Amino acid sequence: MTSSIGSTILGYPRIGPRRELKRALEKYWAAASGESELRAVARELCARTWRELSAAGLDSVPGNTFSYYDHVLDTATMLGAVPARFRALGLGPLDTYFAMARGAGRTAPLELTKWFDTNYHYLVPEIGPDTEFTLADHTPVTDYLEASTLGVPTRPVLLGPVTFLLLAKPAAGAPEDFRPLDRLADVLPAYRRLLRELHAAGADWVQFDEPALAADRTESELDAVRTAYAALGELGNRPSILVAGYFGDLDGAIDVLAAAPVEGLAVDLVSSPSTVDRVAEQPGLADKTLVAGVIDGRNVWRTNLDAALTTVTTLRESARDVAVSTSCSLLHVPYDVEAEPSLDPEVRPHLAFAVQKVREVVTLGRALTNGRASVGAAFEASRAARAVTGRTYNHRVRARLEMVRPAHIRRPDYETRRRLQDNALRLPPLPTTTVGSFPQTADLRKTRAAWRRGDVSTEQYRERMREEIRDIVRLQEDVGLDVLVHGEPERGDMVQYVAEHLDGFATTEHGWVQSYGSRCVRPPILFGDVSRPAPFTVEWARYGQSLTDKPVKGMLTGPVTMLAWSFVRNDQSAADTAAQVALALRDEVRDLERAGIGVIQVDEPALRELLPLRRRDRRDYLCWAVESFRLATSGVADVTQIHTHLCYAEFGDVLDAIVALEADVTSIEAARSHMEVLDDLAAVGFARGVGPGVYDIHSPRVPGAAEIARLLAEAMESVPVGRLWVNPDCGLKTRGYAETEEALRAMVEGAQTARRSLR
Ligand code: GLN
Ligand code: ZN
Repeated sequence: MTSSIGSTILGYPRIGPRRELKRALEKYWAAASGESELRAVARELCARTWRELSAAGLDSVPGNTFSYYDHVLDTATMLGAVPARFRALGLGPLDTYFAMARGAGRTAPLELTKWFDTNYHYLVPEIGPDTEFTLADHTPVTDYLEASTLGVPTRPVLLGPVTFLLLAKPAAGAPEDFRPLDRLADVLPAYRRLLRELHAAGADWVQFDEPALAADRTESELDAVRTAYAALGELGNRPSILVAGYFGDLDGAIDVLAAAPVEGLAVDLVSSPSTVDRVAEQPGLADKTLVAGVIDGRNVWRTNLDAALTTVTTLRESARDVAVSTSCSLLHVPYDVEAEPSLDPEVRPHLAFAVQKVREVVTLGRALTNGRASVGAAFEASRAARAVTGRTYNHRVRARLEMVRPAHIRRPDYETRRRLQDNALRLPPLPTTTVGSFPQTADLRKTRAAWRRGDVSTEQYRERMREEIRDIVRLQEDVGLDVLVHGEPERGDMVQYVAEHLDGFATTEHGWVQSYGSRCVRPPILFGDVSRPAPFTVEWARYGQSLTDKPVKGMLTGPVTMLAWSFVRNDQSAADTAAQVALALRDEVRDLERAGIGVIQVDEPALRELLPLRRRDRRDYLCWAVESFRLATSGVADVTQIHTHLCYAEFGDVLDAIVALEADVTSIEAARSHMEVLDDLAAVGFARGVGPGVYDIHSPRVPGAAEIARLLAEAMESVPVGRLWVNPDCGLKTRGYAETEEALRAMVEGAQTARRSLR
């Protein structure tokens, strides 16, 4: 007999409310603690989560939500999919796991990439035709048993077999036409065995996460879903199966899942409200539990409980049983609003982080079973909080946006601009530059922390930044770079820094969200109309420029990236929000120009990552993304050179947008893909300046001058010399000075060799 789920969440943050896991991991990696100490921290975090979630009143508590690094890596390990190069290290299980995540000596780690369209990154499993799958690790079972011992029966969360294989990449040496999904039949026995073990341990339900179903899927991929859940569903003694598809609408996959022999389906009604109608058309749900994801698991706003309750109540007619839930795991939001006493009192009432979202779920669940009146006070309090008028409306911003005309996002033709810019800048062929940041040293970070605490005065802090800029400019002159940067010492984070200087953004103190492994970010909260009270980069750029006769680039973060790496208001379209940010940046761009900065770079590293999962939504997105960039950058004179920087390896879907950005110079990641991107760009008619990264800054490896000259020779086959720039793949922020200096010298020498070949 299938038990009811009632109220639940699909997953929970695991780094710890005070980033306890981060600290414990880093200590362990630094060999300052042992495995048992790390495991004890993990166990404590798990226990705390189970107790809290159960005490909060969730009817069904998710289990197995902890991970030492990443849940996709956990799944690969659990299925025994450990590539030979890691086995060969001869390490124990935990260190093998960390070697896959971080590399070990000369053994390269698994590739790290974006988890769908979130800011979380997972490790890409490598699966080949010969990968042997077994149930090599029983963590979901031990996790279940441990929670049970503490009196909390959980619903173990597993990464579903289809998504797991779709996220994997073919192992090196696999035949051309091999796809990891071809191995479905071979992973299913391990999953079946796990189901049996969980059943024996006493689990009522398990949850299989299949977010890959929210992206476009082929018929054969949908067949794989059918096969997988038929094989798991037909098992005799097993827990009830809940399949969770989130981050968008499930389209055709919903028909497949509704017809599958599983007991529950979780849908994301926040990113796809129209799923409500789709669900109503599914006769197959009549004997299933529908888990309604009505609380936004990815954003920080308080839920409109009345509206959510209406939705869930409507759904009751479509399924055997309806449960209330978050739209996805709460992994993507910070822990607790209560930890932010200094947040703007007009913003704070509107926020709900993980702890608050759990309470919302519980309240809604009770309203659904016992009627709204049974939780009337909670509903009332929520309504009152949402009614607090925030400073979201700025009529001057609105009026200005109304005034935007096509002429504001256009610059005269590129050839005209280019002639003027060439005359003004007088650069050698193959000009060398960097992407913006120089190493963020421990001392810089320490000084910033001291300044924030008030231990260092603002004037002292500024002087320390100026000192750093002096050193950075001197280094670049000494190395012989052509277009310099001030090095961004004042920016701990390129989004946070800009957000701190714009109205309409709030920043948090403890609002950490896991990005990958021990790395966390604190996304700013974009809550209201955005404007720029005063210039915030001009002082640094001007100071940098005062130190040299060479051009120094002004440096800004573009509107798309500002949105992508923030929590964004949901009461207006992203297009409007981006346009507001763009106008604020446009002011800054103009002020930089006025201060004598002739080259201005507006970074859009996140352009690719906000790309919608479904093809049909992409045009719209790319349209507003491009327009916002152009709105930010088209206010300058023709002689001012606009640069942009994009940093990802797969450009396929955004090539046309890169052309449409109209930047005079685009620096782009290319070292790892051997300049392939240049031909791709040429194929879509890109004919402006381009700086394909000539070395990979993600690795401490220092390139040789000959290697750089070779890459440039290759690049010159795709791009006319007059348009080619020379720069690293990305900013140098995470590197050390020794390797940075060496690498830049090699880069300049390589460019000189390439220039000589032109004579
Ligand atoms: N200008 C930024 C830097 O160099 C760009 C960073 C990025 O692309 N993520 O750090
Ligand atoms: Zn980059």
